[in-house]
Amino acid sequence: MKNFTKMKRSDFEKKLFERFDPMYGNHKLPMTQTCMCWGLDHGQGWYNLIWELSEKIEKEIKKNKDLEIFRVSQVKEKFGTLRFYYDGNWDDDIESLIDTAERKSEQICEVCGKDTGKSNLRGAGWIYNRCDECYEKLRRKKERKNEN
Ligand SMILES: [Zn+2]
Repeated sequence: MKNFTKMKRSDFEKKLFERFDPMYGNHKLPMTQTCMCWGLDHGQGWYNLIWELSEKIEKEIKKNKDLEIFRVSQVKEKFGTLRFYYDGNWDDDIESLIDTAERKSEQICEVCGKDTGKSNLRGAGWIYNRCDECYEKLRRKKERKNEN
């Protein structure tokens, strides 16, 4: 399994969009037509999750010609978990793969990609998805800010 979590966002997007073309083809459209023009709107920690999900969806698409117009329309973080939106055609299997990945994202640190096996969601108001180590770093950074 490749590890993409240290990649720069623009590099990972390029790699993902090329490898899984045309599934992510909407990223070429203007912002009046799609949110995909913004690319992936979440932390690096989920790059592996996105790659794996794309591989699984691709396998489903290959089984059925009708699914070839499946397109990803937006990928982002909301309330600490992954939101993966799509249009075109899909089936129950694709829907369930996406549901599973969205639920799984709750346990995968959005910063470093560590799978903690439990919910990482913390904070009130703004919700963070961080493993213990990454949350500690964030906490210390905030403390330092307050001291200044
Ligand atoms: Zn982490």
